[in-house]
Amino acid sequence: MRVAKETVVAIEYTLKDDQGNIIDASGDRGPMEYLHGAQNIIPGLEQGVDGLVAGDTKNVLVPPQLGYGEYSDKLLQLVPLSAFGANTPQVGMRFHAETNLGMRVLTIKKIEGEEVTLDGNHELAGKTLHFDIKVVSVRAAEPTELAHGHPHQSGGCCGGGGCGSGEASGGGCCSTEEGSEGGCCSTEEPAAQKQGGCGSGGCGCS
Ligand SMILES: [Zn+2]
Repeated sequence: MRVAKETVVAIEYTLKDDQGNIIDASGDRGPMEYLHGAQNIIPGLEQGVDGLVAGDTKNVLVPPQLGYGEYSDKLLQLVPLSAFGANTPQVGMRFHAETNLGMRVLTIKKIEGEEVTLDGNHELAGKTLHFDIKVVSVRAAEPTELAHGHPHQSGGCCGGGGCGSGEASGGGCCSTEEGSEGGCCSTEEPAAQKQGGCGSGGCGCS
């Protein structure tokens, strides 16, 4: 069976940046399973896998516009330190927040005096992604998987080893908006899961 719309595909992958640094890999987590054609993964990777069969290997080059988007200064915003209340913000911390673009993962980019700069860009925004992939299996999707928009068995989005354990970065099982580490299903920000994350079209089944 070839990878096509309405198939569930399992791939092993290694993701590198332009310098050859490994950003993410399926590695010990095992293959990443996703529903093809349901925007479970970034468009450029999905296009690269299209038409392959189990056992195929391929290098897939994904430009930013087919990956996590171009880096945009418009996604930077300043908030006062006092907005964090009792929490002590630190550069590099990530959290979910409602913004005028909807629920996004924000990263603390800079702290200067009483001003905190938040960055709504995905950590891989603006980057060209180099995937080395191997197709492990391809099967027809079950009707419930099509209805939910994600695969169900063997550690998919709803089961063990999916988003819940941080599998989601680098074109992982979550949507492209929410999928980075600390993404929609991570334990870092459980309050955010039910809003635009896991519960509603994200990783969860409900
Ligand atoms: Zn489901």
